Amino acid sequence: MLEVRGLRVSYGPIEVVHGIDLDVKEGECVALIGANGAGKSSTLKAICGLIKARDGSIRFDGQDITNQAGHAIVRAGITMCPEGRQVFPQMNVVKNLRMGAYARTDDAQASDLEEMMDMFPILRQRAGQAAGTLSGGEQEMLAIGRALMARPKLCIFDEPSLGLAPKIVAEVGETIERVKGMGKTILLVEQNSLMALRLADRAYLFEAGEIVLEGTGEELQSHPEVAKAYLGH
Ligand code: ATP
Repeated sequence: MLEVRGLRVSYGPIEVVHGIDLDVKEGECVALIGANGAGKSSTLKAICGLIKARDGSIRFDGQDITNQAGHAIVRAGITMCPEGRQVFPQMNVVKNLRMGAYARTDDAQASDLEEMMDMFPILRQRAGQAAGTLSGGEQEMLAIGRALMARPKLCIFDEPSLGLAPKIVAEVGETIERVKGMGKTILLVEQNSLMALRLADRAYLFEAGEIVLEGTGEELQSHPEVAKAYLGH
């Protein structure tokens, strides 16, 4: 469904992603793991059209989307659930969810809103509350629900567990598990490598702008280098 080939990304003269290849197949959950600064977020941003690819190609659902505008990529079916959640703090929960559907032209948004609130009952309880007053974990659920309101073919999660307490991280993991259960295709970037590898069907390990390992979530969990450097055992 997503095919990235020879992707290079630079900031000014400094290249930070050095010609990577990666694939996400329909229905898969794929994780990108690796240390801070390894190039995971830059890769995601290039896929979503938020920064330019210096070289290489990105194909999605049979279409070349390399360096297309962000809104065209959303229309093609890719939605990003951004790092730090970025809910609209003054708007209430329902309005935030509706914002996720802004690019849709069909009339099933009301029923999707109901579906989101069935899926995340806490959002129904908080429906009229300003999003900024929600806890970090609730805001993450809202950000995920808002992303799903776009009915994406590919859902990208950038660091969903960042800054959350361990108990809440586990809840976010369960939420992503539920999104997987809906049959959604997921690309996930996570500092929490253990959570990412447990969730992922396949994963790629980034180091200094390159992909140095690729395998199933289980294979990478039991890989000695990954276990030592990223899982702490
Ligand atoms: P993190 O988990 O910290 O986001 P990452 O693996 O996602 O790490 P990137 O954020 O893609 O890594 O960063 C890759 C490199 O690009 C780093 O060296 C970083 O300092 C640099 N970088 C990221 N954003 C910018 C920017 N806007 N301008 C200049 N350099 C940047």
